[in-house]
Amino acid sequence: TELDAGEARMKRTISRIKHKIVVMSGKGGVGKSTVATNIAIGLSLAGKKVGLLDVDVHGPSVPRLLSMRDSKVHIEESFIEPVAWSKNLSVMSLGFLLPNSYQPVVWRGPVKMGFIKQLLSDVVWGDLDYMVVDCPPGTGDEPLSVMQLLGNDAQAVIVTTPQGVAIDDVRRSVTFVGDVGNQVLGIVENMSGVVCSQCGNVENIFGKGGGKKLAQEVGVRFLGDIPLDPEIVRSGDEGYAFLSVKQDSPTAQSIQKIIKPI
Ligand code: ADP
Repeated sequence: TELDAGEARMKRTISRIKHKIVVMSGKGGVGKSTVATNIAIGLSLAGKKVGLLDVDVHGPSVPRLLSMRDSKVHIEESFIEPVAWSKNLSVMSLGFLLPNSYQPVVWRGPVKMGFIKQLLSDVVWGDLDYMVVDCPPGTGDEPLSVMQLLGNDAQAVIVTTPQGVAIDDVRRSVTFVGDVGNQVLGIVENMSGVVCSQCGNVENIFGKGGGKKLAQEVGVRFLGDIPLDPEIVRSGDEGYAFLSVKQDSPTAQSIQKIIKPI
């Protein structure tokens, strides 16, 4: 049947992806999309073939972060071509398919699931070393669908901030990933301290080591921290890839450190 054919195609597509990294966060605004995008860029700069999939149906931010808001995907009857950001990095976002960016998307769970399924079966990624998925915040339908469809070898990267309230969010995310039968690759502490725009030093306004301690408490690996850096805000607003433009900055090096074990 047509359903089986779709299922088989999805399996084929997924079988061509070596590593699947699902970037999650307990809540919005912690820099999940920024981290997902920079992980994808870092891996691609290291010579890996990378696909960046943005499944945030309510607020797809990857097109803005990578200056791809005007990108149009090429859609054929039976396949969708991802948009090439570079030779090594292909991008697919719901943002490319929406008629405009201000209309809210109101979809129920099964519809979202169907849509994510379609992105995983109809987008012709080809052979990938990595697929990095930017999920909407929380532990809702989208991360669940992504994990279930990608399979149990998909690993989660959980992005959090240093504030005390984050621990419950992280615990919830870790439990969620375990419940669906997948592994947490590690935790990233974002906006950890502030980079002084005058001297470049990092001010640890929330204290240091919170992320590491938190990772220990919930029993997962601590991948590293990224300071609050005005350059990251600028890169997001202007849509240039932070990691490729600011390669030598201490912040870029802290991101590279996070990518290493990935
Ligand atoms: P989320 O995906 O969690 O909602 P975003 O990645 O969209 O979060 O980031 C939210 C805002 O915070 C954006 O304006 C982004 O540029 C900014 N941001 C993210 N990480 C950092 C950082 N380390 N330093 C400075 N600004 C950051």
